[in-house]
Amino acid sequence: MRVELLTVGDELLLGDTINGNAAWMGRRLAERGVEVTRSVVVGDEPDVIVAAVEEALGRADAVLTTGGLGPTYDDVTRDALAKAAGVALVRDPALEARLRERVAKAGRDLQPMALRMADVPEGAALLRNSAGSAPGLRVELGGGVVYALPGVPSEMRTIMDEVVLPELAAGAGPLAVARRTVRTAGLWESVIAARLAEVEAMPGIRLAYLPDPAEVKVRITAAGGAAQERLAEAEGRVRALLGDAVYGTGDESLASVVHRLLGERGATVAVAESLTGGLIGAELTSVPGSSDTFAGGAVTYATSMKHRMLGVDAGLLDEHGAVHPEVARQMAEGVRDRLGAGYGLAVTGVAGPDPQDGRPVGTVYVGLAGPGSERLVTAPRLPVPGTGMEIRAVIRRMTVVHALELLRR
Ligand code: ATP
Ligand code: MG
Repeated sequence: MRVELLTVGDELLLGDTINGNAAWMGRRLAERGVEVTRSVVVGDEPDVIVAAVEEALGRADAVLTTGGLGPTYDDVTRDALAKAAGVALVRDPALEARLRERVAKAGRDLQPMALRMADVPEGAALLRNSAGSAPGLRVELGGGVVYALPGVPSEMRTIMDEVVLPELAAGAGPLAVARRTVRTAGLWESVIAARLAEVEAMPGIRLAYLPDPAEVKVRITAAGGAAQERLAEAEGRVRALLGDAVYGTGDESLASVVHRLLGERGATVAVAESLTGGLIGAELTSVPGSSDTFAGGAVTYATSMKHRMLGVDAGLLDEHGAVHPEVARQMAEGVRDRLGAGYGLAVTGVAGPDPQDGRPVGTVYVGLAGPGSERLVTAPRLPVPGTGMEIRAVIRRMTVVHALELLRR
């Protein structure tokens, strides 16, 4: 089963919208063992869409489109599909009635334009859209099939999960390709690749490295017979070779792992942030249910606030400035004690792009104050790749990961 994606919209070509639909669909289809062999983007031009659909069906068994199913005149996918199939657009009475009902319920007047959504290529099947008003369409065309889905991501995803994926997966046969992503922190991409050389040499196993600042995801792909079993074996080797650097798999985030570990220890954490300006708190609270293990935090950005809010020694700040290991340590202790948390986690450093108080960009100290005062750790300077404005975002992100890592290990 070969599938091609055709995402439609001028906004995608102009770069106003990132093509999240293609990314999501590619991922979802791969998970279900359906191979996407090509992905094409076109604008809101009927003739171009017709040509792209015909070309794609010349290669693939199924084509999935998104976008251009709405009521406005720039929504032309419906017309293009009718043209490609050589049929007329006909108004579907049941669909028209449903649209009228929806609009009446919402207390709005029906715009004549909206009725365009009830026009479907003759013979097309309607795919139920429980998340919005425009249904998807399935059009049989020259031995292949086109699934046309709305551009709105939530609607596209709903129809994919409820209708399209079950249909495609039924025709895909047993999984010939199995994949799994192992998530790591604390090791450089090149170090990981060197350690995993023997896994790379296993027959039918491929590794891909997806680096993010301070985190690397390792995607393991097993192709051919007994894919699942060989995948499990490769994952076992990867875990053994990378040890403690592996913190999770799949969509599991570092923050969610940290919460789980804190929960197991029956502890909470409070954070004191300088250069990250709240990013650590944001990361920790992005996990549902985080109030069990996240107490709260303080953004102490100005140097004086580290003294006023956290009790960091004023003389220390005068003498060394805010970027100093002892400052990180006192910030961690201060926030732990003031918030009555089990752990205090603190960061202070230079995010750039310019040095501060004579300290170079990337000088970051992370303090961790454990339960009691027996665990006080500070981390040395972060390595900084590259230069320029982007560096600020990278250093802040690396600091978040580094801080959460200190808590995890
Ligand atoms: P509607 O029925 O709501 O008009 P539609 O099928 O006409 O849906 P579009 O008008 O093309 O879809 O897009 C609707 C919204 O979905 C826009 O905000 C657009 O930015 C977003 N969108 C469209 N295509 C994509 C895509 N490939 N990836 C992510 N977002 C997209
Ligand atoms: Mg639209």
